[in-house]
Amino acid sequence: MPLPADYHLHTPLCRHAAGEPVEYAAQAIARGLTEIGFSDHSPMARDDFDDWRMHLDQLDDYVARVRRAQAEFPSLTIRLALEVDFLPGHEGWIRELAGRHPWDYFIGSVHYLSDGWDIDNPLKLSRWSDRDPLEVWTAYCDRLTLAAESGLFEIIGHADLAKKFAIYPPQDTAPLFRRFLEAARRSGSAIELNTAGLRKDCREIYPSRAILTLAHEIGVPITFGSDAHSPLEVGADLDQAVALARSVGYTESLRFNRRRRESMTL
Ligand SMILES: [Zn+2]
Ligand SMILES: [Zn+2]
Repeated sequence: MPLPADYHLHTPLCRHAAGEPVEYAAQAIARGLTEIGFSDHSPMARDDFDDWRMHLDQLDDYVARVRRAQAEFPSLTIRLALEVDFLPGHEGWIRELAGRHPWDYFIGSVHYLSDGWDIDNPLKLSRWSDRDPLEVWTAYCDRLTLAAESGLFEIIGHADLAKKFAIYPPQDTAPLFRRFLEAARRSGSAIELNTAGLRKDCREIYPSRAILTLAHEIGVPITFGSDAHSPLEVGADLDQAVALARSVGYTESLRFNRRRRESMTL
């Protein structure tokens, strides 16, 4: 069986990734992938919001670099996308971004619990110690639910990113995600199986087997992504992610073209 599309790839424009899109594309072909999508961290309305994304005036350059990879590797399907941060109040900005280029999909990700705290940022790890993990996880799920309800995203990224540093509440966390998954089902958003978690302290795919089992029961579709920040990570552990998806009952994944979805057999 061929691997599914790797829909979560970054570029050096976000300031914490290496390698040009053409290098990611070459690696994808070497790994036997037939479809990939670039989804770099989207610009914010204000360039000084943080320091780990492209600036707004680099957006056209980003699109040009992806187009170059498409032109150089016509045998590989290469999608043009963004990983967009969801923060309440940013909806208008996200709609404006959507109108700037003919995107194939948007991954909506929650990294920020407040304007000043990106919970996956290792430089802000100490913030976790001031908070009750259950309160953080609950607030995280609330934002994720708002992201799914917004209808702005084809895919919701790394749904249980809160586990990145392996800081868990004592309670079972999967039930916290039910409301989010029901919202995703209603709005038609997919969730991604993101293999970057395997490379972090939590040592498991985002989301967990328990959440993915619930997602399947509720009827939420899926996509796959390595979250590669270097060409060597393209397609990383997608075989494991496919095995996980199949083991909870998934038989299909989605692909996107100009924000229209299509099902693929897994
Ligand atoms: Zn990143
Ligand atoms: Zn992310």
